[in-house]
Amino acid sequence: MQNIDSVASAALDLVYPRYCEACGGIADIEGRYLCWACLSNISVICTPYCATCGDPVEGAVYSRFVCSACNDNTPAFELARSAARYRGPVKELVHRLKYGSAIHLAATLCDIMVPCFDSNYASLSLDVIVCVPMYSRKERERTYNQAWVIADELSKRTGVPFWGGLLKKVKDTGTQTSYNASQRRKNIRGSFEVSQPDWCEGKRFLLVDDVMTTGSTVNEVAGLLKDNGAVSVHVLTLARG
Ligand SMILES: [Zn+2]
Ligand SMILES: [Zn+2]
Repeated sequence: MQNIDSVASAALDLVYPRYCEACGGIADIEGRYLCWACLSNISVICTPYCATCGDPVEGAVYSRFVCSACNDNTPAFELARSAARYRGPVKELVHRLKYGSAIHLAATLCDIMVPCFDSNYASLSLDVIVCVPMYSRKERERTYNQAWVIADELSKRTGVPFWGGLLKKVKDTGTQTSYNASQRRKNIRGSFEVSQPDWCEGKRFLLVDDVMTTGSTVNEVAGLLKDNGAVSVHVLTLARG
């Protein structure tokens, strides 16, 4: 039997049809802002990928491997995993979330992330979910942090508590899109702070962000949490550039 919420949501859909935020067509997945065609076009990340940072590689690799970037500089985090490639419908949805005030996409985006959480991290005894913070002035301009929006929703789905304000970004690092990996590492160094350092001691963290590119940001945050006594930091991002 359908519950009241889903009956109400189906009735609302008749009056106010929801549109797919990736293609603009009718959103035919109940309660979500995505259509089945776009859902099936999402490039879900599956093996082969680096056993540490989760970076996917093309082609056939049959054994466990660690990429050269992780071999050269062991990351501060234990593992990083991303749900989908940053392309097609996922790129559109992230863009809408970031620049189009589409915070109502939280549940739609978490549908993509939850299977990745379940297959990689469900067995960990995580203490808390945190997200990569935004520089305060930038967050005021945008009025929200997109990583916070998805981390908060992920917390509701997984039951792991979320502490959005534990981390702060204290330096405006600008846009890093034109930087290579080592320039990004240098640029991001010292940009984050922990609001309650003593609390981190002995804790197991899940660090959430929307998109991971070179991993320099999540690595910097993971290093800071470890410096403050974190036992482990696992990273989960919606998308991988
Ligand atoms: Zn669509
Ligand atoms: Zn790697």
